[in-house]
Amino acid sequence: MHKVTLIPGDGIGPEVTRAAQRCIEATGVDISWEEVIAGQEALDKHGELLPQKALDSVRKNKVALKGPIVTPIGTGFRSVNVAIRQALDLFACVRPAKSYSGVRSAFKDVDLVIVRENSEDLYAGIEFEEGKKETLGLIKQIEEYSGKKILPGSGISIKPISRSASERIVRFAFEYALKYGRRKVTAVQKANIMKFTDGLFLKVAREVAGDYAGKIVFEEALVDNMCMQLTMRPHEYDVLVLPNLYGDILSDLCAGLIGGLGIAPGANIGKEMAVFEAVHGAAPKYTGKNKVNPTAMILSGVLLLRHLKEDKAADRLEGAVKEVLAEGKAVTYDLKADRNDPTSVGTKEMADEIIRKIKA
Ligand code: NAD
Repeated sequence: MHKVTLIPGDGIGPEVTRAAQRCIEATGVDISWEEVIAGQEALDKHGELLPQKALDSVRKNKVALKGPIVTPIGTGFRSVNVAIRQALDLFACVRPAKSYSGVRSAFKDVDLVIVRENSEDLYAGIEFEEGKKETLGLIKQIEEYSGKKILPGSGISIKPISRSASERIVRFAFEYALKYGRRKVTAVQKANIMKFTDGLFLKVAREVAGDYAGKIVFEEALVDNMCMQLTMRPHEYDVLVLPNLYGDILSDLCAGLIGGLGIAPGANIGKEMAVFEAVHGAAPKYTGKNKVNPTAMILSGVLLLRHLKEDKAADRLEGAVKEVLAEGKAVTYDLKADRNDPTSVGTKEMADEIIRKIKA
């Protein structure tokens, strides 16, 4: 029996995690779920967004399925999602972007894997607010050290990129490529402009790539050019390894290549623990409407099953998802040609159909 932590999350989180949980259970795998809360519900009930109990549960069980959690833009609390990854040292974010037949998208047969660094870069949360005493002090110091001017009234976000974190994420990408029979790793960065951060990431990537010469092809790409290449020739790429911010942005871009956020799964992986969650967020406007696509969360469940070495169950679940997508009947609004198509079904009903296929 596997013990797995379940964090339903906010917004559409509880609906999609419940759908994924039911689909995983339908495969017959023996899982005992330990449900814990984080996000708005935890703030309302316990006065904290990320209770220790939630983190302890993941530390104990080593595996979690997590729904998205809201982060207010520009103000208020910092991201609980980022906090979970940092607290549990889930340094690698793996986001496969794979085409499924029946899903309308600009390209067919896309098969990419984003490996995003999860622990540092501009997501380190080291920020200095405009006008504050320490911000003004920092600006003065930077001006002294760099000889460059920063406009008064600036806010500052710090972008730390380290040799050690770069090395472990690039090595993770190469090891992933070896394990899953992939042919190429592309290191995506902006080293021509940010020489000491992205430049360090690239330098380390080149060094690590040397250890895999003859086994996995290594390429480099600037992030702006990569965006264009991906939207024109996605089939030329395979595994992409990126610092945190570019990884986040390109995850959504790659989700767009395969038919949208509704079908893009993900995993946050550390040395000892793994938390599985969709690429998409909490889509607050759809909360409680039984409307959104559960596929991204269900496919995150497929990744979870593979992590638990339950490959047969994972194959059955992915097979059932594929069938439902290919039929294109019992699917949510976002998978229909016309988003107002009255034949689209709800989150729960799409999961019901997937469960029917698993059991057929
Ligand atoms: P979002 O991914 O929540 O939604 C953007 C839009 O994508 C939605 O309005 C909807 O049209 C579509 N969409 C998303 N998921 C879908 C699904 N399953 N089925 C069909 N359509 C879907 O992004 P956002 O609006 O930028 O963020 C909303 C909140 O979620 C914010 O507070 C954000 O910080 C948070 N967020 C959390 C995570 C996470 O928990 N890992 C990730 C991203 C965003």
